[in-house]
Amino acid sequence: MAVAIYPGSFDPITYGHIDIVRRARKLFSKLYVAIVANPHKHPLFTAEERQEITVAALAEEGLNGLEVLSFDDLLVDCARTCGADAIVRGLRANSDFENEFQMALTNRDLAPEFESVFFMTAGKYSFLSSSMVKEVCAYGGDVSSFVPQSVARALRAKLRVAG
Ligand code: ADP
Repeated sequence: MAVAIYPGSFDPITYGHIDIVRRARKLFSKLYVAIVANPHKHPLFTAEERQEITVAALAEEGLNGLEVLSFDDLLVDCARTCGADAIVRGLRANSDFENEFQMALTNRDLAPEFESVFFMTAGKYSFLSSSMVKEVCAYGGDVSSFVPQSVARALRAKLRVAG
């Protein structure tokens, strides 16, 4: 089976991301979860923290066949280094489509050897985003149905929220 790379900010990883990882692992024997070190959005967690949090969350969910890394070069260059065949992304609602379409076509222009593959999230995660989780946690809300426990702990510590 082929190898794929799943890039994103993962600031932090949520059950929505994990749902996509599970689906992708059914088709790809190895999946690189690749954290964009310096995304345009200002991340709450550093790249190192996001990597640690992601590793812990995926272990907590009992997922294997994965490698977590962070990168700060072009995605297609990172994909080449990993020996990937495909780029995985997740789709929630219509609003994701435009941006994902643009990114996939740009990547195809840069590196036609990679196919972009999109997985649709489970309905219950279609509203879920890292930003929403950060906001709920910052106001002291319970995020246990959105992220694994280890991620909730990291969020509370970072946002100095009692838990
Ligand atoms: P980026 O800044 O690259 O969009 P994100 O961490 O926000 O990084 O998202 C990475 C990928 O995961 C994107 O393809 C995004 O659409 C997808 N994703 C994020 N949240 C969910 C979710 N709840 N369900 C499915 N896919 C998701």
